[in-house]
Amino acid sequence: MDERLEYAPCGYLSITHQGIITDMNHTFLYLLGYTREALLHKHIESIMSKANQLVFHSYFYPNINLHGHVEELFISLKNGWGEPVPYILNGRSLVSDGVPVIDCVLVQMSKRMDYELELRSAKKQIEEAFWQKDQALASLGQIHSEIQQKQAELMELNAILLELSTTDKLTGLKNRRYFEEKLNDQLEQAAKTQQPLSLLIIDIDHFKQVNDTFGHQTGDHVLEKLGSLLKFHSREKDIIARYGGEEFVVILPDINASEAGMVAENLRQVTAQTVWDTGHITVSIGIATCTEGVSADTLLKKADEALYTSKKEGRNRVTHSLKLAGKLL
Ligand code: GH3
Ligand code: MG
Ligand code: MG
Repeated sequence: MDERLEYAPCGYLSITHQGIITDMNHTFLYLLGYTREALLHKHIESIMSKANQLVFHSYFYPNINLHGHVEELFISLKNGWGEPVPYILNGRSLVSDGVPVIDCVLVQMSKRMDYELELRSAKKQIEEAFWQKDQALASLGQIHSEIQQKQAELMELNAILLELSTTDKLTGLKNRRYFEEKLNDQLEQAAKTQQPLSLLIIDIDHFKQVNDTFGHQTGDHVLEKLGSLLKFHSREKDIIARYGGEEFVVILPDINASEAGMVAENLRQVTAQTVWDTGHITVSIGIATCTEGVSADTLLKKADEALYTSKKEGRNRVTHSLKLAGKLL
């Protein structure tokens, strides 16, 4: 055999149409670890597993017989130690020196198989990473919606807390804290819009006697009922609060002094005409209406002075602070 063919970078093999090995190059022997004597005149199928023999029978021979050649047949041959070595085989039928033979070229596939395995394992790792990413995204989404839900609950709770912290427990009206905040806001608003604003302080007359005569619990019911009455006879935008004890305050936005007088008189009459468990309940009312630049404290003080006058003059009456200043309404 030509030396270059002997050491060619691929295995070379000649077999008869019956599969008997008649020649092979050194590379083929070297790759499989056989001696020439071990393979010469042996059947090619003697170095194949049963499965490979089957492939060889059903693919190699029919193609050689039909087309005279076989291309890229993937076949595994057993090496000298009985291990399978994968090959790509090209075969061609020809007549050499008047004898028909089949020349085969074999290229070892081990490296390619390794690459394929590496590729497959890399692909698996990528798929795994994608799966983990999807899982992470899904649980992130879950956490995100849980956070959103918790935030909504927190906001709801905050709103309830805010409502509780600004509400008077007994009457359900706004409390003094809320009133003081709102009075400042409303005065600012009134100054901005140049609209009037009035304030009423309403105090139950001789309430101590009610408690003393009917008990504290009945006194509580009177406070509750008066709270509802004031709410019922006020506008949506009026701010009614329990200022403390048996005193209530009402902020009347856009209401001037004479209108405030009418509102207060109505509340006084409604209270006096209502049927109470305790018999008769009356209130005294003091009114103040804001003038430009007046502070919340001053307005409250003026209304309080007017209330004091209502008390002094016999209770169950309404006094506007302007009357005290000698400016008749
Ligand atoms: P005046 O006509 O001068 O306002 O007399 P008054 O008795 O209403 O006023 P005073 O300030 O002497 O008494 C107020 C009473 O209100 C005393 C207190 O026990 C009672 N009071 C304050 N807060 C409550 C409450 O939450 N429930 C009850 N039942 N009574 C209260
Ligand atoms: Mg009082
Ligand atoms: Mg009182």
